[in-house]
Amino acid sequence: MYQHEEIINKIAQDKINFELGTKLLEEEKYNFEILFAFLKNYIFNSIPDKTDYNTETYQNAINTIPLKPTYTSIVILKSFTPKIAFNKLAKLPKNENTKTIISLVWIFKVTDTERRNTECKNGCGHFWHQNLKHEN
Ligand SMILES: [Zn+2]
Repeated sequence: MYQHEEIINKIAQDKINFELGTKLLEEEKYNFEILFAFLKNYIFNSIPDKTDYNTETYQNAINTIPLKPTYTSIVILKSFTPKIAFNKLAKLPKNENTKTIISLVWIFKVTDTERRNTECKNGCGHFWHQNLKHEN
């Protein structure tokens, strides 16, 4: 697992505090495009409804992002369906990148927690769920 992958999964599984974890990601000087693609993939995979991904859990996630709701990234997430919103987020100016990444890590935390509590509850084949479990 890449460093950023491990940090994101630890945040999602409450093994690192959200604020501390997103700061670690920032300090790692990640490549936005790579991290964005990774988070998008992880989020969409964690949502059971593959037609539009617009589930109650997803709505709950975008409505609880711990940033000012007036930030462009959040306004976009709340105004468009997931696929369209993600396409728009990818094209925002660089100074929005950190807010976008924080928002996506939050969304993943919520959608992945829901998945771990439902379809993964009795065991699953997601290696990132297994690997981190061993550290307990
Ligand atoms: Zn799993």
